[in-house]
Amino acid sequence: MNGPPPTGTDGWRERAHVFAEREISPHAAEIDREDRVPDPLLRSLRSSGFFGLGIPPEWGGSGGDTRSIVAVLEELARASSAVAVLVAVHQSVCAAPILRWGTPEQKETFLRPLARGERIGAFGLTEPGAGSDTARIACRYVREGAEFVLHGTKMFTSNAVSAGTILVFATSDPSLGAHGISAFVVPPGTPGFSVAQRLDKLGLRGSETTELVLDGVRLPAEALLGREGEGLHVALDALSGGRVGIASCALGVARAAFEEMRRAVRVRDEEWKRPVLARAYTELSAARALVERAAALKDAGAEYVEAASVAKLSASRAAFSIASSGVDVAAPESMRAGSPSERLLRDARVFPIVEGTTEIQELILARWLLAPERGPSS
Ligand SMILES: Cc1cc2nc3c(=O)[nH]c(=O)nc-3n(C[C@H](O)[C@H](O)[C@H](O)COP(=O)(O)OP(=O)(O)OC[C@H]3O[C@@H](n4cnc5c(N)ncnc54)[C@H](O)[C@@H]3O)c2cc1C
Repeated sequence: MNGPPPTGTDGWRERAHVFAEREISPHAAEIDREDRVPDPLLRSLRSSGFFGLGIPPEWGGSGGDTRSIVAVLEELARASSAVAVLVAVHQSVCAAPILRWGTPEQKETFLRPLARGERIGAFGLTEPGAGSDTARIACRYVREGAEFVLHGTKMFTSNAVSAGTILVFATSDPSLGAHGISAFVVPPGTPGFSVAQRLDKLGLRGSETTELVLDGVRLPAEALLGREGEGLHVALDALSGGRVGIASCALGVARAAFEEMRRAVRVRDEEWKRPVLARAYTELSAARALVERAAALKDAGAEYVEAASVAKLSASRAAFSIASSGVDVAAPESMRAGSPSERLLRDARVFPIVEGTTEIQELILARWLLAPERGPSS
């Protein structure tokens, strides 16, 4: 699907809806079963303009505000959460931080190919011994003259097999905690960099999740993104934006599960199913309002950390709750391996974990709610 980028949120939603119906939905079960996005679909995605969302045309992107990104991700995830997460990770935790923190030279080298979809972006923060507590990462870097040399292991890195650009976070000294961490842009062809294993998962199958090894990866000074020692700030800022994207993916799964449930009720309408359907609709509507609120605040340049956490909590709960009751409503067909209800339930289980778990969102919110500057009414 080529052509100039659409204008406005509705235009983007329409493009994503048509793309998802034509190009993704017919392959959704295969993506889950084979645990990969087929090459022809990847090629269509590259020319869809979705990889350039949120990146201004001056850097080769398709433009589009957060509301448009949210609309696109919801439509893609309604068809396949793996495809939506591929785009979400590329856009929100790889391209967006390079746009925000990169020098003009880094944007020319790294952002432009990401914007055109010539390269896919990934984000390597999590390690075998550091997930929620990001300041504990052990991947080390040392300075050697003007170069940086990285050693370590990254775990659960999405998109990394196909990626042409990976943001990697490493510390100069673990005893410095958050202040020792820096962000680097790593092209995967770099000697010493390898994908050690591809992880087989319960849900979100088709999304590449990998273990990465960095064994003496030598990077030039230009690979440093932001200032030395500010890497955790870059990571947390990226994850705040990423939460809005992941919330949109969860919303798409919630919608797909709701639509599947409604179809099942229409096939075999029974009294007990009607309130279940109504509850699912209420959860879906609330999640949509909260995701759109977070996107609107981000677009307005307002503080949106609280709204992003609320949106992610609400949408990931809605996805799991609707998918779970959807299995009851569509039983016994929903028990078949590979049935849409079964796949949606497995996919929905991932969203409370990725880009900050439910418990971490609750900690962020509690900190926000109890901040001294917040009065009794907010
Ligand atoms: C499909 C998938 C894709 C992913 N993609 C990426 C990626 O692209 N890049 C990347 O860097 N990471 C990625 N991750 C990793 C993900 O971000 C981490 O799994 C997540 O941050 C949690 O870290 P952990 O798994 O180490 O769990 P832990 O941090 O060990 O947490 C285990 C449990 O303890 C809870 N917990 C932890 N600390 C606290 C606390 N202080 N208070 C209360 N409860 C707590 C957690 O909520 C969780 O329930 C991905 C994960 C998955 C499943």
